[in-house]
Amino acid sequence: MKSAFLLFALLYSCHAQSISGERIRAHVKFLSSDLLEGRGVGVRGGDLATEYIATQFALAGAKPAGDNGTYFQKVPLVGVQTAPDATLSAVATGGKDASFRCLEDFVGVDRRQQSAENFDAEAIFVGHGIVAPEFQWDDFKGVDVKGKILVLFTNEPASNDPKFFGGRALTYYGRWSYKYEEALRHGALGVFIIHTTPTAGYGWEVVRNSWGREDPYVKLAPGESELAFAGWLTKDAGERLLSLAGKTVDELLRASESRQFHPIPLGVRISGTVHSRIREIDTKNVAAIVPGSDPKLSGEAVIFSAHWDHLGIGEPVNGDAIYNGAIDNGTGCGILLEIARAWAALPQKPRRSALFLAVTAEEGGLRGSEYYAQHPLIAPGKTIVDLNYDALQPVGRPTDVVVSGAERTTLWPLVQNTAKRFGLTIEPDPQPEQGHFYRSDHFSFAHAGIPSFSIGEGNTFAGKPAGYGEAVFNDYNEKRYHQPSDEYKEDWDFSGLEEMAKFGMTLGTEAGNMSKMSSWNAGDEFLPAREKSLKGR
Ligand SMILES: [Zn+2]
Repeated sequence: MKSAFLLFALLYSCHAQSISGERIRAHVKFLSSDLLEGRGVGVRGGDLATEYIATQFALAGAKPAGDNGTYFQKVPLVGVQTAPDATLSAVATGGKDASFRCLEDFVGVDRRQQSAENFDAEAIFVGHGIVAPEFQWDDFKGVDVKGKILVLFTNEPASNDPKFFGGRALTYYGRWSYKYEEALRHGALGVFIIHTTPTAGYGWEVVRNSWGREDPYVKLAPGESELAFAGWLTKDAGERLLSLAGKTVDELLRASESRQFHPIPLGVRISGTVHSRIREIDTKNVAAIVPGSDPKLSGEAVIFSAHWDHLGIGEPVNGDAIYNGAIDNGTGCGILLEIARAWAALPQKPRRSALFLAVTAEEGGLRGSEYYAQHPLIAPGKTIVDLNYDALQPVGRPTDVVVSGAERTTLWPLVQNTAKRFGLTIEPDPQPEQGHFYRSDHFSFAHAGIPSFSIGEGNTFAGKPAGYGEAVFNDYNEKRYHQPSDEYKEDWDFSGLEEMAKFGMTLGTEAGNMSKMSSWNAGDEFLPAREKSLKGR
């Protein structure tokens, strides 16, 4: 058995050898050309990109896996932009009141996707708003918050113990998006997160800028419930609100660090009027499949994913209004297309199928991958892994690889062995407290229980001086990230992207042949979702 496995391994890594950095270059060059107008969502440039990707899948011999025998999975989105005339006020039982100005004091969105909304309800403070049975933590303590407006802090209880809320690392419980989901599960009407720079990890400007514009959401199904308002208050506005209840921000921050925390009714009603500009956006994921060779396992799959969208045409910088997104994420798409081509050309296919997914609206909040997780083409319980690629730097051959999150899955030994075979050192996440794991598409798959992570290069490059990688990444972050200058350069060296694609393809083929289905490790925050998905298998 062992020698047969080794033979397979050799066979597949040989075929991964057909992957070519120069083919990846050709895709990146086309996808990031000005003709594609920055691959915006719901506009012509993005539509051209999806047609190109579908055509490349077809040329590779990968079969359509989308709606009605096409390569496309329609993703209905709704753009919601809060009008600046939104009003918000709070009145205490004793009659004292406070009012808050849109953008100056608060931001937020009507998650019911309505053009007009009025709300008026009792406010209750719920600490961090977390229910985490595996850490014996419950901020709600069974208190009924139905129809109420929750006031809370983002982030999670402080910890240096890796077994308690991931230690220094941020878990999903600490992310603001989790707060809104948990509030909805409790039947709340709305939520206000009181911003502080330490709990958010960034200043109010970041909150204000990212919430003051149109954001796309997956269109609600008829009858689906959502929060009437999901918002943030500045720390000052939070102080004014809490003072109506005789409390302070610092006092409640301290209280919310305790496992004994119990929700605190504030004796205040919060009311608001919110108008929103609502716009339907039609966009799509592009999906192709190469069926597996084992009749029993071909209903299961390995997923490779990369988002195709970027920011489209926007505010000009130095006279250039096209946000080309060559690195972000022309590179991931180029790798995805090249792996699909090499996989479809394998003379002996792996036992499981391979699903290639170019997802939409990542820049709008991982919406394409979120929609996929809600409407999977292969059930999550039948998906062994998602390997995602997002924004790689074509600047030479890395000697290390970043696969953050892989260490939390049962695929870890396979990942370690594969890295060893490629002579790659695995570099740990340098800033786990920033929660980068929750900001790229693999997270949507993880949220549905699928063992998922992104593959990227580390900081060290062969033949380059120490500090080269860091300098490259810093330069990109400051001068090109999400700017019109994220453009293709003829002098780019694609040898590293070739290596990252070969590494992912080898990992994928091996996962495609494993007898045992994968999972998240014991105690992991995604294990409950995994167990649920495996039950339905
Ligand atoms: Zn990206």
